[in-house]
Amino acid sequence: MPDQLILRRPDDWHLHLRDGAELKSVVGYTAARFARAVVMPNLVPPVTTVALAQAYRDRILAALPAGAPFEPLMTLYLTDATTPAEIDVALASGIICGVKLYPAGATTHSEGGVTRIERCHATLERMQQLGMPLQVHVEVTDPSVDVFEREARFIDRVLVPLTRRFTQLKIVFEHVTTRAAVEFVRGGRAGIAATITPQHLLENRNALFVGGLRPHYYCLPVLKSESDREALVEAATGASARVFLGTDSAPHARASSTPKSSTPRVTSSAWRDLRASTEPTFTAGRATRSASGSSASPGPYRSGSNSVQPSWFPIARARSLAGH
Ligand SMILES: [Zn+2]
Repeated sequence: MPDQLILRRPDDWHLHLRDGAELKSVVGYTAARFARAVVMPNLVPPVTTVALAQAYRDRILAALPAGAPFEPLMTLYLTDATTPAEIDVALASGIICGVKLYPAGATTHSEGGVTRIERCHATLERMQQLGMPLQVHVEVTDPSVDVFEREARFIDRVLVPLTRRFTQLKIVFEHVTTRAAVEFVRGGRAGIAATITPQHLLENRNALFVGGLRPHYYCLPVLKSESDREALVEAATGASARVFLGTDSAPHARASSTPKSSTPRVTSSAWRDLRASTEPTFTAGRATRSASGSSASPGPYRSGSNSVQPSWFPIARARSLAGH
């Protein structure tokens, strides 16, 4: 049985590239490793329209190193005000691969997100009709819910009713972190899939507290228990075709991640250059432990994991409809 897999040019199905100088400083790391990436829309202001996504895509392409063969797959930021007509425009554009649902206040730059899912029903109906996937940040924002329970509560309160109401809607459960999430995705109806990050496969929540608070291990959703991590590894390395790599690489300025003021942050595609040498290092497709000085351990993804996802997204279909 092989103990190492090398993905020579995978796709990243969940990526934050930010904008401006940050975009220019990080996009090359992704383009050097990945052929394509699903680019998340939580800019300030958020990418709520196809016109904004087109402009953002142009900025990404302009920021690429010369000749880099990289295709950004754009997403829209769902709000209470997103119209069904915008979904029509998104499909026709050929550049939008999905619509991201952030519960308002759940994570970085999510303030403009959805306040009540019921307000999006008409838009979700149109997405269902057109085969446009909904990509979901799965955490309740209720401050009375334990931070480690927020994903599981969102499944119960929002996702289960949503999958029953919209029986054909394609749903990507972004960055699964718990055993409950794995069970929901693998046991769910057709049309449900998930991304998994390297950091949630490699670490459990103990990492946050080893020798004191360790803010570089703070990401959202937060790391979970060892039992949860084991469930993720099993899902990523098992036979299920519903699980994809999404690094959730999300650059933050170092100044915003000090122990005094820690924002959630993992920059997996560029981490090697941003972290002290004693910190774990994540790179695309494989994970290394620079602290131990040992050579690379294998990346946890099945070699065929990214061959499934394209059929999920409407881009190729929209292009063929557009005649090119
Ligand atoms: Zn993310």
